[in-house]
Amino acid sequence: MSGFRHRHVLGLEGWSRDDVLQVLDRAERFHALNEGVVKKSPSLRGRTVINMFLEPSTRTRTSFELAAKRLGADAINFTPSQSSTVKGETLLDTARNLQAMHPDVIVLRHSASGAAASIARHVEAAIINAGDGTHEHPSQGLLDCATIRRHKRPGARDLAGLTVAICGDLAHSRVARSDVHGLGILGAKVRCAAPRTMIPVGFEALGCEVFDRVEPAVEGADVVIMLRIQKERAQGPSLYPNNREYSRYFGLGPRLLELLADDAIVMHPGPVNRGLELDPRIADGPRSVILDQVTWGVAVRMALLELLAGDGSVAAP
Ligand code: ASP
Repeated sequence: MSGFRHRHVLGLEGWSRDDVLQVLDRAERFHALNEGVVKKSPSLRGRTVINMFLEPSTRTRTSFELAAKRLGADAINFTPSQSSTVKGETLLDTARNLQAMHPDVIVLRHSASGAAASIARHVEAAIINAGDGTHEHPSQGLLDCATIRRHKRPGARDLAGLTVAICGDLAHSRVARSDVHGLGILGAKVRCAAPRTMIPVGFEALGCEVFDRVEPAVEGADVVIMLRIQKERAQGPSLYPNNREYSRYFGLGPRLLELLADDAIVMHPGPVNRGLELDPRIADGPRSVILDQVTWGVAVRMALLELLAGDGSVAAP
């Protein structure tokens, strides 16, 4: 029995330490498997996973598909441009029709915050939120925790004693919200920084310190997570004067790197706006673990799929 108490994975808000550790510990095993020659552990043979991505994705979609296949499940990719969504079918109708084909898991990415939660009320399949608007991206939060644990706390279970700085477009980042929850649950101290125009009202209530300058956030930090400027979500007047000023004051370059702890690591969920929020020399430099995040993404998504749809999964209401 997996003993996992969630039927869906909609967000990390409200998760317990045990919930997060169950995913991370299982992901450790899959990470080791994925480094071998035969990357298969067919515990989901006969199960079906539908990837329903209604917003662009590279890493998340590919890794969910790979994760499902490595577990032996049938993975179907639903492509909106070739489906009835372009004919005006509602999300709920599309989901109900997919449900009629009896998938075990639907992985949903959607531009509306709350989309995954609303679908979860109407289908029997387990729903994994692969990013809903500006709300949450729980599998990214978990893979970030897994990456940090491996690099900064090898052998330990949680992240107590670490300071993590999350810098950039807090206003639109679902990754920031999931990271703040996940890191906080595992005992890390979280500092967030953004231009004042990009700090949502009450953001500190999520459980982090909030700064309108990067320097106090990154000072002595063990980990820095840079966020992408989400141009596609920003409406109305620009939230910052211009790219040059943004990269000068909020981008991670050599000057800010000096302020971090000597052995600090640099992360970014991707895709990176090179030269805007992150200097390419740092993105490709020795402190960067950005590609390790991608590697952990497969292992963490295998763990989530197995916990939700494996034999030992508990289908609590
Ligand atoms: N790929 C992440 C997301 O979908 C981060 C980003 O797009 O900036 O939220």
